[in-house]
Amino acid sequence: MADPQGFLHVAKQEARKRPVDERIHDWREVYAPQSPCERAREVSEQARRCMDCGIPFCHSSSAGCPLGNLIPEWNDLVRRGRWDAAAERLHATNNFPEFTGRVCPAPCEAACVLALADTHTTGSVTIKRIEQAIADTAWERDFVPPVRAALRTGKNVAVVGSGPAGLAAAQQLTRAGHEVTVYERDDRLGGLLRYGIPEFKLEKSVVERRLSQMRVEGTHFVTEVEVGVDLAVPDLRDRFDAVVLATGALLARDNPDVEGRRLDGVHLAMEHLVASNHECEGDGATPISAKGKHVVIIGGGDTGADCLGTAHRQGALSVTQLDYHPALPEERDEASAPWPAWPMVLRTSPAHAEGGVRRYEVAVQRFLGDASGHVHSMVLAEVRLTRDEHGRRVITPVGEEIELPCDLALFAIGFEGVEHGPLLDDLGLVTNRRGALSCAADWQTATPGVFVCGDAHRGASLVVWAIAEGRSAARGVDVYLTGSSELPAPVHPT
Ligand code: FAD
Repeated sequence: MADPQGFLHVAKQEARKRPVDERIHDWREVYAPQSPCERAREVSEQARRCMDCGIPFCHSSSAGCPLGNLIPEWNDLVRRGRWDAAAERLHATNNFPEFTGRVCPAPCEAACVLALADTHTTGSVTIKRIEQAIADTAWERDFVPPVRAALRTGKNVAVVGSGPAGLAAAQQLTRAGHEVTVYERDDRLGGLLRYGIPEFKLEKSVVERRLSQMRVEGTHFVTEVEVGVDLAVPDLRDRFDAVVLATGALLARDNPDVEGRRLDGVHLAMEHLVASNHECEGDGATPISAKGKHVVIIGGGDTGADCLGTAHRQGALSVTQLDYHPALPEERDEASAPWPAWPMVLRTSPAHAEGGVRRYEVAVQRFLGDASGHVHSMVLAEVRLTRDEHGRRVITPVGEEIELPCDLALFAIGFEGVEHGPLLDDLGLVTNRRGALSCAADWQTATPGVFVCGDAHRGASLVVWAIAEGRSAARGVDVYLTGSSELPAPVHPT
């Protein structure tokens, strides 16, 4: 039984971050490490703030957690010091709480009754912090042993892509007794967890630990194989009874027509982040370093914030982040403006506390280069954002042009959907108007036996949605292969 008045006695306390001066000199996670004892004491207090309100929007997939995490249940178990049971309840709905506990923007917290009534409380329950504490405690105390399938079905499944959607589908299907092989074209596993999200948000040892568990459970992994190219589609279909496409939505939006786009030093954000993550993996110095440079990031969203934090850690001279949206009435931190209460594009991340300048209502007009063809500055215009009669964005330059020094420019302006190529062509699949792959209610695409999940289905989204869709698609595959399934399906295709 939860403490119905706990929130009246205990104030909300977020996890402490390491001082900026310290953290921008290394790649370790932003949050301050705590001893297991100190963490257990503080987090148990925080869990007391959950009153098990009886209206848990936090774990409804429409308003809060797409995974349907049993948040009031594990809050109460943590309050009572039952970390083993809390870990069991957390893993009952989430394959990888150590990822979401670190990187999820926590729609559950925005949906918490204490946040909705925030003039009478000190804010939402710190659900994400509690989730991470349960997950980390579970690994430390060995509460997450590998789960081996009780029986083998003799069916073979290929999962294409090793991001959180592919990994969740693979783990569910392996545990259901299928022989699962995950194909990844990169040299390491993890998708955007590995080469998109920087180390200071998610240390890669956390990903490796989960992959080791999956290997012991029997999931097979093959890296540096691009399905459709290195493994032709006819061979794929011959060898596997079902295929899950978890290939992400990695087609980055560009601005190819802006003057100077092809100058050296003008890159897509993902080129910068992937190269930096390779350097953190020990693969040698990044060819796109911000060291000693004036960096300009075009785009005010999450990817832009990750470039900001990365540029500071690389030793940038200055970092400016541009957005054509107007500024919020005042700069707000994550706690006071949790996503999705404010538009995602203007969310503030811990990287914004580390320095840099944000400029709103501006758009790049052109880049200027030197004789060697390297960018040295960019010209901005002040703009106003309006909508036309169809609701489409119209960005109109107003006022004077401004010139900014810039020797590294990074376009972080979103993603357009699934990459095109032989995989889709040879499977006979086409993308929809969102650039994603459509599917039926069982996650099967128009090609029988081929399923889809994660960003490939949803468009660029969140880790928590990728895991939820991977789990749900696994059920669809299980039913397709065996006629029934006990696997859960927390969400349905859009
Ligand atoms: P991905 O993670 O994109 O993985 C797809 C994988 O498929 C890739 O590894 C790719 O190489 C592989 N692949 C593609 N085609 C083939 C093929 N033919 N053969 C073999 N392999 C193939 N979300 C959050 O919740 N919190 C965050 O803080 C956050 N930060 C982000 C930061 C950045 C910079 C970016 C870009 C995204 C961020 N996201 C964040 C979003 C989140 O990472 C994605 O929503 C999530 O990773 C999608 O998972 P996925 O498994 O669908 O695809």
